[in-house]
Amino acid sequence: MFTALHERLATALPEGRHLPEEVWRRRHRAVLRVAGGQAVGLGVMALLLGRSPLTAGLLALAVAYPLVFTVLPGAGRGLRSAAATASLLAASVVLVYLMEGLTEAHFHFFVMVGLAALYQNWVPFGMALAVVLAHHGVVGTLFPQAVFGHGSAQHSPWTWSLVHGAFVLAASLAHLAAWRLNEQQGLRDPLTGLANRTLLLETTARMLARRSGPTSVLFLDLDDFKDVNDSRGHAVGDELLTTVSQRITGCVRSVDQVARLGGDEFAVVVAGSARTAAEVGERVLGALADPVVVDGRAIHVRVSIGVADSTSAGDRSADTLLRNADLAMYLAKSSGKNRVVVYAEGMERAAQAKAELITDLDSAVAEGQLAVHYQPTVELGEGVTTGYEALLRWQHPTRGLVPPLEFIPLAEESGAIVEIGRWVLTEATRQAAQWSREAGRPIDIAVNLSPRQLLDDDVVSTVRAALADSGLPAAQLTLEVTEGVLIDDVEAVVDVLRALRGLGVRIAIDDFGTGYSSLSYLRRLPADVVKIDRSFVQDLGSGGRSTTLVASIIELARSLELEVVAEGVETEEQHAVLGRLACSHAQGYLFGRPQPAAVQDPATSVEVPLPRTEALLAVRS
Ligand code: C2E
Ligand code: CA
Ligand code: CA
Repeated sequence: MFTALHERLATALPEGRHLPEEVWRRRHRAVLRVAGGQAVGLGVMALLLGRSPLTAGLLALAVAYPLVFTVLPGAGRGLRSAAATASLLAASVVLVYLMEGLTEAHFHFFVMVGLAALYQNWVPFGMALAVVLAHHGVVGTLFPQAVFGHGSAQHSPWTWSLVHGAFVLAASLAHLAAWRLNEQQGLRDPLTGLANRTLLLETTARMLARRSGPTSVLFLDLDDFKDVNDSRGHAVGDELLTTVSQRITGCVRSVDQVARLGGDEFAVVVAGSARTAAEVGERVLGALADPVVVDGRAIHVRVSIGVADSTSAGDRSADTLLRNADLAMYLAKSSGKNRVVVYAEGMERAAQAKAELITDLDSAVAEGQLAVHYQPTVELGEGVTTGYEALLRWQHPTRGLVPPLEFIPLAEESGAIVEIGRWVLTEATRQAAQWSREAGRPIDIAVNLSPRQLLDDDVVSTVRAALADSGLPAAQLTLEVTEGVLIDDVEAVVDVLRALRGLGVRIAIDDFGTGYSSLSYLRRLPADVVKIDRSFVQDLGSGGRSTTLVASIIELARSLELEVVAEGVETEEQHAVLGRLACSHAQGYLFGRPQPAAVQDPATSVEVPLPRTEALLAVRS
């Protein structure tokens, strides 16, 4: 019961937050001016009331003396505010004394307690209260005339000291209430009711100062929240943020604090190590795995999380801690999103390098640094090349060849992928049209589309324009999308895919088997081709479960009348197993690596037929 009372009291009372330095200085200067003015004023008043110059001087000195402590070198806020408050109250005592306890003179105490409350700190405030009570009780008992102006009070000073004390206390409570409300105002996020950035930084600073163990901060940023806001409207976005804030709050202990930093950014300060914080992060990922239903439609929320602990912040400042967590979040985002990354030394440099790459990417198309390489797709029965997949390459002026897995996520993030993707489409369709003419037979081309292209850009008209400009028949173009695009907003993606198919192009589901979707998902998709991910193909023939899995994908694809392409075929053994499973098409280093168009020539491409028996088996099954 005691703890409950204690907790309630603690939440009702002001926390005694540190005012920002600049605000504190301004208030302190004002208090000092009042204190100095009072010392001089009371000296003059004493003279006017006929006291001796010595008495007047001593009284003025009594008021001014505490101010000495405010200019002591090394004096902190606590000492300086206490000293200024001592001067304010000394003035009240002197005034009451000079006015011979006149009741109206006591009003001065109220004003001084109000001034002390400006510091919004328990030291001066508590001191003001203590002085008032002590002055009335002790001095009032010893020298009643110096404190009380009327006879009844002089006879029973303690009673009147209690009456005065009660009034001062009531005034103080009013100040406390104002102080507490001031503190709360502007510290909460209006939408979610969570702490805001200021409060988070203060809580973090306090934990850093008071805890001996490590303190950690998580920085969370929702992935692709902008798309939700753009496509579903701000009201839906707000509802989503509110739900997300509740789910995050459900993942932390009561000692940890969740804050909304603004937009789709959240942070959590955790009393614990980076490991504990990373566990909190994993819990948040788990809590957000269930789609959020707004207006009857499911929205899949993903979040990138950065974690940093106090051992990583050399200066033990809350700002540094939050910045490190932010950096780690940035890397979580650029390494594929929806994950937790713990800050490590050297991440500044990595982040810096990524930021530079993003800037460089902007000019890569214009400067002709991008190139498309082509990897053959072969029809397994006859071993003929039926088409190519266009794979982007970036020849960076100083870094050399940057692999697509490094720069495509960045281009996604920055939005540069939309322009780059358009360029790849134009380039690849033009090349395929040229090859088809030269070879005298249709050469297919597959182009990868990123999620951002699929949702952000007017991708349908881009594709239509590329086909028109190149003269390539739509049926020869396949657009590859990964399962990942589906989890954001299935309906919207399906609509776009339908529209693309309406142009006559084919849709391939890339990296099949690695994403979130299940086999049954395939039925719902407007797709023509399934590309079995390299990771399964690589295990073929090694006796693992991959063979069964690949077999069932092929079986399902056949029943849905989809073409199957096995990716990443490197060995004859894999080739043979695929033949036995009656897989129709394949791609991989065994048949050809991605090469510039000048090196690939479909007219002279070598045929890689299956060994005779395998081919027969494939045809029969
Ligand atoms: P992806 O679409 O799954 O492309 C296949 C990747 O596997 C290519 O990597 C290819 O070089 C590699 N590969 C092919 N055969 C083999 C093999 O036998 N063994 C091994 N170990 N690897 C093989 P790459 O070119 O590095 O591209 C990586 C990813 O970057 C692509 O994966 C694709 O998701 C993305 N990407 C490439 N070009 C584009 C583009 O123009 N637009 C978009 N949005 N993404 C692209
Ligand atoms: Ca692909
Ligand atoms: Ca793939």
